[in-house]
Order: sequence, then C-alpha cells, then structure tokens
Amino acid sequence: MQRIVEVEKIEFEDADEVTLRPSSWDEYIGQEQIKKNLQVFIKAAKKRQESLDHVLFFGPPGLGKTTLANLISNEMHANIKTTAAPMIEKSGDLAAILTNLEEGDILFIDEIHRLSPAIEEILYPAMEDFRLDIIIGSGPAAQTIKLDLPRFTLIGATTRAGMISAPLRDRFGMHFRLQFYSHEELAKIIEVASLKLSCLSDHHASLETSRRSRGTPRIALRLLKRIRDYAEVENESSIALKRAKYALDELGVDDHGFDELDKRFLELLIQAKGKPMGLGTIAATLSEDEGTIEDVIEPYLIANGYIEKTARGRIATPKTYDYFRLTPSCEQTLFE
Ligand code: ADP
Repeated sequence: MQRIVEVEKIEFEDADEVTLRPSSWDEYIGQEQIKKNLQVFIKAAKKRQESLDHVLFFGPPGLGKTTLANLISNEMHANIKTTAAPMIEKSGDLAAILTNLEEGDILFIDEIHRLSPAIEEILYPAMEDFRLDIIIGSGPAAQTIKLDLPRFTLIGATTRAGMISAPLRDRFGMHFRLQFYSHEELAKIIEVASLKLSCLSDHHASLETSRRSRGTPRIALRLLKRIRDYAEVENESSIALKRAKYALDELGVDDHGFDELDKRFLELLIQAKGKPMGLGTIAATLSEDEGTIEDVIEPYLIANGYIEKTARGRIATPKTYDYFRLTPSCEQTLFE
C-alpha cells in the first residue's frame, strides 16, 4: 500500500510536482546556507564565463535536490539532462549520454551511489578532463579511443552519503548536505503551493500540516493536496485548521508525522527491551526492504532523536518511550 507520508516520487503525481516545483530562488524556501553558497559559485562561474564545477547533493528523498539542480540550470541558462543511475546499465548508455551533451550543459544523475564501478571508471576522466575513453574489443586486441567532450557540469544526488565511493565523491568540486525543514519553513512552502493550487491554506492549517510532514517538502505537498480534496468535497474554497486536522487524522498521519509503519518500527525497538536490533531483522519483521528503511524511514527518526544507530543495530531512545507514554521498565505490559 502507498504510504501517505511516502517520500519517494509517485509517477502519477509528477505533473503536479512540476507545477509546484519552485522556479526561482525566492520560491525555494529554507536551506539558506546552501542557497547562499550556490548563488556565489554560480555568479563567479558566470563572471568567468565557465561552466559550474560539479555539484553533489546529499540528503533523504523529497528534500529538494532535483529542484536545486533545476534552479542551477535556470540560473546558468543551461540545458539540463536528467537521468538516474539505475538507468545507466552499460558503459554504452553513459557514453551515449555524454556524447550528446553540449558545451555548458548540466547532467543530473539521481541516486548516483547506484552507479556500477565500471560506469564510475568512465565517469572519472569525463568529469576531470572532459574526455571519454572508450575501449573497443577485448583482450590483447583491445583499443582505447579517446573522445573530447564539451565542458559540462555534473550534478549528482544521493540519499546515501556513505555509499558513494570516495574517488567519485572527490571529483565533485562542491558537496552540499540538505537538512530536514523546520515547521515554519514547511508552512511557508505549503502556503506558496496552496496559492498555486488556488486553495489558500491559512497559517494555522499550514503549521498543523507541516508538523506532520516529517520535515520534508514532498510529504507536505502531498498532504496539502489530500487536504484540499477534503475541503473541496465540503465546498470550502480555503483550508482552515479544523479541516486540515480532520483530513490528517483521516489519513492516519499523527501529530509527529508518523504513520503505521513508523509506529510498528518503533514498537519493534521497544519490544527488543534495549537490545540493539539489526537492519535485516527489522526489514524482515516489517516486510519492507532494507533500502527503504535506511533511506526513507530512519533518517527522520534519527534526526529527531527517536532511534539511535549503533554498530550492533538500532535502539529506541527515551523519546520513543515518551511517545508511547511508557517508561523503559514497563514496556512489556503494553505490547505483550
Ligand atoms: P529530491 O530530489 O530531494 O527527492 P525534489 O527536488 O524532487 O526532492 O523535491 C520534491 C518536491 O518538493 C518538489 O517538487 C518541490 O515542489 C518541493 N520542494 C522541495 N524543496 C523545496 C523548497 N526548498 N521550497 C519549496 N518547495 C520545495
């Protein structure tokens, strides 16, 4: 079942994502330091009439990495070609992408930590020397052909900082780690989007929605669209706090932005009675894959102090016990 607090892109919603995606720095709310730095580096590159150095964005899904890549391309007046690492299976796939680039173009590769080592090897000279080394044939008869590439900017995005290889990471001139958004920032994002959707959300309603959005714009926008549906059915042209609360409760998203899956995850850790629980066990018990747990569920829980990640596994924190109104010694009574 699709989670309402799902952060992965959902295909049928892409059209709305495009409409709501900020098209200027002013519309891009939060991540102030990143914006400030990028604006300086872009200005400098433009002044020197050079392409921008390669950029790497880290951060959980839905925080605005793709949006930043698009804003950079607008600001540089450059074309952007977008792809994702799982789509680049063979060296020929990457060669085709690179040879189709033009001077100054931006190549955006999402989930860049998923590139295979063989593909990464091709990317290194392309990033460093704007050169493509193609090997034709195999064995002693193999020949390397070197092709010059136009100067382009590679923008990589990854949800897993730890999984990107060091040589690849080092070839990016700029690294930016996106942070979860504050409630006020998300409320502002919701209000700007609600204007675009012609269904104004009042500030109290926006704040309530933002509190339940796991610090993530993609979730905030998704919740806003569903709340708008509830308001529309009731013939309300704007969203008030009461309607937002009602809709969010109906959607099963609690005050903390947790849904059933988060709650089951936290309950599991409490049932472990302080013993660290391994990722494999958690994934098997929740019937979820390990990647989803690491990329999607855990980052927000860790950032907000609900779980601790140790070398031996995950453990619940006092905040988790508070959430279930438990003390560390009486957890058995609730779950047994
Ligand atoms: P990511 O690439 O990190 O998964 P996206 O850039 O696709 O995330 O962002 C998801 C959606 O959230 C976008 O469509 C955009 O509308 C919205 N969004 C993301 N960051 C911001 C922001 N800082 N301000 C306003 N809207 C944002």
